[in-house]
Amino acid sequence: MFDGLIISRPVYFTESRSRCGYCSAKKTRDEDYYCLDSWYHANEGTLPENCTVGFQAELMSVEMYDKLCNMGYRRSGKFIYKVDMLRNCCRLYTIRTKPDMVIMSKELKIALRRFSKRVLPSDKSLHRNPKGGCHYIDEIIETESLSQSFKTCFEPAVFTEEKYRLFAKYQEHVHNDFDHSAKSFKRFLCDSPFSKETVLGTKEEWEQLNNWKELPQGSRLKRLGPAHECYYFEGNLIAMAVTDILPSGLSSVYFIWDPEYYKWSLGKLSALRELSIISKANLKYYYMGYYLDDCPKMSYKAKYGGELLDVSSHTYVPLDRLAKLKRPGKLFVIQATSKSETENTEPILNDALAGAPRTVSEASAVDNVAEKIYGVNGGAYSEANEAARALATLGIPYTADELPFGPQPQEIRSIPNVVPGLVPLKEILQMIVQDRISILKGNVTLFDMLEGEMRRLGNFEDESPEIKKIICDVVRLIGLENTKGLLLLV
Ligand SMILES: [Zn+2]
Repeated sequence: MFDGLIISRPVYFTESRSRCGYCSAKKTRDEDYYCLDSWYHANEGTLPENCTVGFQAELMSVEMYDKLCNMGYRRSGKFIYKVDMLRNCCRLYTIRTKPDMVIMSKELKIALRRFSKRVLPSDKSLHRNPKGGCHYIDEIIETESLSQSFKTCFEPAVFTEEKYRLFAKYQEHVHNDFDHSAKSFKRFLCDSPFSKETVLGTKEEWEQLNNWKELPQGSRLKRLGPAHECYYFEGNLIAMAVTDILPSGLSSVYFIWDPEYYKWSLGKLSALRELSIISKANLKYYYMGYYLDDCPKMSYKAKYGGELLDVSSHTYVPLDRLAKLKRPGKLFVIQATSKSETENTEPILNDALAGAPRTVSEASAVDNVAEKIYGVNGGAYSEANEAARALATLGIPYTADELPFGPQPQEIRSIPNVVPGLVPLKEILQMIVQDRISILKGNVTLFDMLEGEMRRLGNFEDESPEIKKIICDVVRLIGLENTKGLLLLV
């Protein structure tokens, strides 16, 4: 059986910013919708919409999803997506942290103390650290080990009526959303692109995971893949964490809770618990999804410390470094200060995407060069348009975009020539000119959905213009190395 990556052709789409789950088109100042000041000044009269690039994944390994998370993608069910950081109304940054990066604020300490008080038997109390420090991991483990009323259970991410009832209650009371159904819940929080075997896992895997508190130091977690962690208090399901356990860490997908327990600060508790699990299970990172510094609903994530991903350079930058480099809501792109003044082109990306992103070290001096590269007068557009024209002469139907926005969002039919975090068109052109693209020959399977025919990719230059463009777009989204072995639905 085919066990690699099966995806649909990449898509780019625009929706009204009023449908943006973060700003809902309610920013008070128009300039706050723009990625950079120069875009605002050049485009008075039109406002950015919600612009997303992605693909449907029918089958994907956990390892591949790990890589994609580290390129700025997230998943909603089987759909893998990221926003266009230039054209979208909000900048969504991948944020991750580590258990030892967390600084326990007063707020987190209080949430944890109240939780202990609620779930511990009245005759039990915790061994407080005599110096008054807060070792949240020990505190959580001790609380849960002593509690008889509270327990959690990891299980496969599959539909149950009980979970759906909790979801319905949560959506209605917390998000004022009455437009849900068992089907939408299943699609959003149960479905995933992982194989059935991966979703169901083995008894051994779940047992080890559910005993995370007792994992011996240095042991390896057997469970990889999606999971639902159900929280029970006095036998009732009061919350559920939807997570993906990846080789490089635990990714928090969604968290739902019973509104009757709103005083419990279950969201904060779940983050501290998941960080504790990561620590005990020897996982490295806690992926918290997207961080938006101009959206209160999402900026709380900075409270757990960590770093943000610069998708253009495939590099994580610690939040404390960014405080000086970046303005809230705006785009940032880092470059070593030592680079020459004139460098205003998109960073080379393809080879970097084959590996894990690096993290900017404490010592290295970096600048934010977003305006120089992606600003209205930045170098990215002319360079990408030049590449688009050259690709067209090679029979690959790219066209030059108007500067700097390209077409109005409503008119975008294909992926714009410049999207931060996608492999720049100049690199795609080089791959073709230097024939590096030929590594895909016989290494990509095309499944024609209309004809029901399956075949291997032949010589790239002999393929139809349409297939060439789809292949180039896939490489733009995930890099050449990750495209190898792909089964593409066209
Ligand atoms: Zn928005």
